[in-house]
Amino acid sequence: MNNHHMRGKTYTQQEFFDERREISDTQLVQFLNDGARTPVVVKLTRNRVAMISVDFALPEQTKLRLHERFLGAPDEVLAALRNYLRGRRRSCWRIVSDFAQSIDAGNHPVKEPRTRTRGYYVDLKEVMDQVNEEHFGNTVKAKITWGRRAKSPGKRRRSIHYGSYSPSQNLIRIHPLLDDRRVPLEFIRYIVFHEMLHSQVPAVTRNGRTNHHPPEFNRREREYPEWRRMHILARRLLKTLSERYA
Ligand SMILES: [Zn+2]
Repeated sequence: MNNHHMRGKTYTQQEFFDERREISDTQLVQFLNDGARTPVVVKLTRNRVAMISVDFALPEQTKLRLHERFLGAPDEVLAALRNYLRGRRRSCWRIVSDFAQSIDAGNHPVKEPRTRTRGYYVDLKEVMDQVNEEHFGNTVKAKITWGRRAKSPGKRRRSIHYGSYSPSQNLIRIHPLLDDRRVPLEFIRYIVFHEMLHSQVPAVTRNGRTNHHPPEFNRREREYPEWRRMHILARRLLKTLSERYA
């Protein structure tokens, strides 16, 4: 489960489409139970005081209460948590509790994410409504927003993630760099389609690795008209749009 450290080293076509900051609650439960001798029962909380508590009292199950911010924890924290539940090693617990202490739950109660659909050139709500009707029979209920611009635009960026989908917020984010007259609308439509598809086809976790593009996902993506050309365009635009940051 080392995906974000490997980004850039092991290049795959899909990687610049998504930036994943978190996993879903089902994926977390799967991950923690994958290969476990004692089943782990997970309860996610928004508790402001106790970020994590583990109950080993019952031999037939381990009870774990966890703040939902753990869904966005780095891979190594989740791996340490899994190891801790199995071997109760202090070194693993330290990694987990460091992360727990970094959660600032009191000052920032979980709230509805702010969304902004209207850009300079493109209204994402319009785009999404059209794609929803054409490709999903209006079944997608996700929200959509332009992402926030980078804090230090002077810095050269190595990669741009065109879009992302957050299962816990049910929110699609589109990179603000795409709100640019050099970006064809058909490309934005395609990226929106790709992220909407993520809301319909969940990622699959096996052996601690999460595949965000399982076969079912790829099959449905290939039904999108001209997806090949869109992939070529994705690569080309990456160059064009990075220039501004050079
Ligand atoms: Zn994707």
